[in-house]
Amino acid sequence: MAGMSYVQRLRHWALKTNQSHKSVSWILDIIRSGPAPENLPRSAKTLLKTSKTTTAKILGIPGGKYWYKGIANSLSHVLKDMHVPNSISLNMNVDGISVFRSSSTQFWPILVSIHEMPKISPMPVAIFCGSKKPLCSASFLDPLVAEIKGMAENGVWLNGNRLNVSVRAFICDSPARAFIKGVANFNAKSGCQKCLAEGEYSHDARTVVFPVTAGRKRTDEEFRAGGYGNHHKSRSPLLQIPNFDMVEDVIIADRLHLIDLGIMKRLLKGWRDGSLDGSLASNMTPKITMDTKNVPLYKDSASPRHASTKKKKKRCKLRINVFWLFSQATSRVRSISILFDSTNQRCSR
Ligand SMILES: [Zn+2]
Repeated sequence: MAGMSYVQRLRHWALKTNQSHKSVSWILDIIRSGPAPENLPRSAKTLLKTSKTTTAKILGIPGGKYWYKGIANSLSHVLKDMHVPNSISLNMNVDGISVFRSSSTQFWPILVSIHEMPKISPMPVAIFCGSKKPLCSASFLDPLVAEIKGMAENGVWLNGNRLNVSVRAFICDSPARAFIKGVANFNAKSGCQKCLAEGEYSHDARTVVFPVTAGRKRTDEEFRAGGYGNHHKSRSPLLQIPNFDMVEDVIIADRLHLIDLGIMKRLLKGWRDGSLDGSLASNMTPKITMDTKNVPLYKDSASPRHASTKKKKKRCKLRINVFWLFSQATSRVRSISILFDSTNQRCSR
């Protein structure tokens, strides 16, 4: 904070520590009750430079409220006065985030990053807020798709120059991917978004399993013709995006749902509870817990939970258990590694 003024340091502290307006106003009152700098703002809004104008309206759509800022608006704000290539391609992300611990309120933001300018942070171009995901993909995605179509024709004017903008890919987790494409979920029998492999229900595993590691590839042409039966659930607004491949351009890179919460959770619960062959010895569960607690975490990971808990396992815990199990050179681990390898390779392009 060297070189910052008193007020700048105060603003820096408030923003870095996510202080509420109420807390900041309180602190300002306390400071003002003594000998305070003359330029000390009177309100939290002035100190934090909170915008007095909203850049987009909040609309009601099925399931909640929707704020659409827009891609062009975001690009103009972020790229002003920067040297920008003539053409850029965008990576799009849609996901659901719980906002509070004590309520089901969640945000579904649409984020955009510029593939050619990776140092620029992803930009929120729209946010849905509701008690669950948007009820209708059309009302959620239509404004985005309409803007993308407009940009494909007219580009975006930036610093007096035309910027050509295209969509490179949608990068989402498995539930969001199925939602935006209007297709069956990843755990449905026809849920694979990349190939025609049909799953079948396993009463032992109590889930859908795929007996083959890859079927014939799905194609954009067949998808657009609606040729995949139960795979299609609703008509996706993404179909209107120019030069967009519905199969290739919605990529699969979702370790959380497919590996950590998918296979790993199923295996650990099965071995712990004895519903799978070769259950863990009773003294193994506390050993797994001890060993995983000693594994250094990524800085974005939460603390591992106890392996014996029957509550929902979180990704970090399950991921670490993967590391633990791989570190044990048993025949079981070798069989898992084959399973993981096949899952990673199956349809992950
Ligand atoms: Zn597949």
